[in-house]
Amino acid sequence: MAGPLPFTRRRLLVGGAATAATAFTAVGGLASCGGSSDESGGDASPGAAGSGVPTTRHAARLRADPFTLGVASGDPLADRVVLWTRLAPMPLAGGLAGMPDDPVDVVWQVATDQRFSRVVIEGVAVADPANVHAVHVDADGLDPLGDYFYRFTVGEWRSPVGHTRTAAEPGSRLEQLRLAVLCCQLFGTGYYAAYRHLLDEDLDVVVHLGDYVYEQPIGNPDRPVVPETVPVSLDDYRLRYASYRVDANLQTAHARYPFLCMWDDHEVVNNYAADTEPGDSDTTTSMRARRAAAYRAYWEHLPLRLSPPDGPDVTLYRSATFGDLAQLYLLDERQYADEPPCRDSSVSDLGNCPARGSERQYLGDDQDRWLATALGESRARWNLVGNPTVVAGVNMGSASNPTYYLETWDGYPAARRRFLDRLADDDVANPVVLTGDWHEGMVNDVHLDPEDPGTAVVATELMAPAVSSPLYDAPGTANPHIRHQVLRHGYLTVQVEPERLTARFRVLDDVGQADAAITTDSTWEISDGNPRATRRG
Ligand code: FE
Ligand code: CA
Repeated sequence: MAGPLPFTRRRLLVGGAATAATAFTAVGGLASCGGSSDESGGDASPGAAGSGVPTTRHAARLRADPFTLGVASGDPLADRVVLWTRLAPMPLAGGLAGMPDDPVDVVWQVATDQRFSRVVIEGVAVADPANVHAVHVDADGLDPLGDYFYRFTVGEWRSPVGHTRTAAEPGSRLEQLRLAVLCCQLFGTGYYAAYRHLLDEDLDVVVHLGDYVYEQPIGNPDRPVVPETVPVSLDDYRLRYASYRVDANLQTAHARYPFLCMWDDHEVVNNYAADTEPGDSDTTTSMRARRAAAYRAYWEHLPLRLSPPDGPDVTLYRSATFGDLAQLYLLDERQYADEPPCRDSSVSDLGNCPARGSERQYLGDDQDRWLATALGESRARWNLVGNPTVVAGVNMGSASNPTYYLETWDGYPAARRRFLDRLADDDVANPVVLTGDWHEGMVNDVHLDPEDPGTAVVATELMAPAVSSPLYDAPGTANPHIRHQVLRHGYLTVQVEPERLTARFRVLDDVGQADAAITTDSTWEISDGNPRATRRG
């Protein structure tokens, strides 16, 4: 050991067990510590002199660029961020996507400049064929609110350069947070122009609320998807993610901003609830196998601080802290949900029946308890709830004959009341609900009892428009709490400051055009202490 290093703390693969296959050690400019001192049992050799790229145990000679799926970062903390890539020279070929059936060393570097003249941390991660050579690195020892650049190298191949940003120290004074909220990006029904325009926003983090992929095999001649069937197996789901992740606009957005991702239903199958799906011909056993496959493929393709999923039960709900300004909760509203009421053979779950009023879980006991604790401990000025499905209530019928999409919170009024009681607690400062799934933008007053407009407004619900999925029928006038509807594609931006939150609906003029322009549909403001939004433009 050649003396003190700027970064000597243990470096780990995210959730990585310290096995030979996940050996991991500092290299290159930090290599003087040597492999033997690495706590993770690293077996890499010191770097090759002068090349900047080390010779390591799992060196691979690849004949084609393995970085076809781009790079990404996510789940930023004040001192670390998850860096992601997946090696896939032939991303749509299936199997190992053109990679050898061997572990492969991937050099990763984080720098404060785009040319990597000031590398602050680097290492070697092992891309494991068991994960289709996906790499998740939790790069630590970073400064809060830091802008960083990162890249990966395998042999002669170098990835695109990614940019990321760490979060503010929890509790520290933070004057501004800028995020975008996106969802619902069916590949074959539009272009990802929204992601291209995202590059012109100055964001701290991108929040994705689900339907990142769809199980339906809907592509088009210009945007094909594989497999051409509904995925069931792990191989199938991997191909579906690869089909979406080859999109250049999606890749550039991932390379520009850290993402915080939560799944909705289509990452597994439409309107599933735990081990059930509508019109279910599936057995519980096969749904659990399907969940295991889908959850695993989700992790393999996104920058998540998560242990490799192994089975159908995966805890993805979590929160993120941004100084003293904001706490963001990401809720899983599919994995623990009881079966929706009056479900029959239809796939829409649109309807009503007396059973709707019965006791039924939506978040599940564990997540509900976690949320109560997290909200109770939050000292943030703003409490943002990333909530995949609509909570304010949408009556698709009439006032006298209401019907609902019963796989949303509307099918679970008792569970919804528990949830809204938590948000209504005086100790929870400025709750704001951020929602996806509906395929339109909305500004909703969330009443304590969404079916009784006489009850207090607990929060505003800001619903992000779909990136590219088809628009649905707009809700009618039986919904006085729906204050605004945006029947366009695009995304939502949210700027949080101590005294106010400003939301903008950014909408495309035509989702069917790759070069579609974007405009602002409307701007809404929520003031500290007043849950109702005011239109500002
Ligand atoms: Fe959707
Ligand atoms: Ca959905």
